[in-house]
Amino acid sequence: MNVRTDWTMEFDVQRIEELQSESFARILARPKGREDWAEALADARKLVEPAAVWDYIPVREIQKDKIQLEGGAVIGSGLVAKVFAGASELIIGICSIGTGLGARVKELQQGRNMMRALLLDDLGSWAVDLVRQQLCHQMEEEAAGAGLHISTCLSPGESTWTLEDQRVIFSLLDTAAIGATLSPSLVMYPLKTLSLAMGRGSESLGHEGGSNCDFCTIKNRCAFRNRRATLPVKETT
Ligand code: SF4
Repeated sequence: MNVRTDWTMEFDVQRIEELQSESFARILARPKGREDWAEALADARKLVEPAAVWDYIPVREIQKDKIQLEGGAVIGSGLVAKVFAGASELIIGICSIGTGLGARVKELQQGRNMMRALLLDDLGSWAVDLVRQQLCHQMEEEAAGAGLHISTCLSPGESTWTLEDQRVIFSLLDTAAIGATLSPSLVMYPLKTLSLAMGRGSESLGHEGGSNCDFCTIKNRCAFRNRRATLPVKETT
């Protein structure tokens, strides 16, 4: 199993502001709004603790609507089996930004500082997605270096892939290594935590390239999608 915590967390403020909505521009036009934004950015820079854990699990068999893994776990839906078709192993991962940012959001909410809480929570979403993008990029580079194909990344709950499979993902990884837990009602903690999977193998796979947004059930009404597509990610070397 692999754990990495040295992900780049660079908030390119100018770029983030350019990609925000009109309502965000109205917030920034007010002195109090600009102050809240500056404070939220300072909190995010201080509190985000990026981390990811992942492993490579050999595939025993891909059936029409599920994937059987070596060791006995069964994962996926029809979509997952289709996107990962041809894979000889799955990369299963969990990304998080730690507990500090979520605790600060709660504190701000309790203090009725709702705007600053909202801005900080949004930065938390950006941050955990930055971890995901860097992990996927690392996996793609690894696969390319080994002459392997790698599929588009998928996450339970973002497409028709059922959220129930979070249980399978958590059962396959030592999530204590990054402090991530899953509640009986399938809520991941810390709250800015996400799980993902990618297929890998020597043959062409069901779907390569693109992003998890391509299969997301809310992609046509997601306000975050366009902002996310051009996030400035810089790799550490
Ligand atoms: S469309 Fe939006 S919600 Fe769906 S995966 Fe992309 S960013 Fe996430």
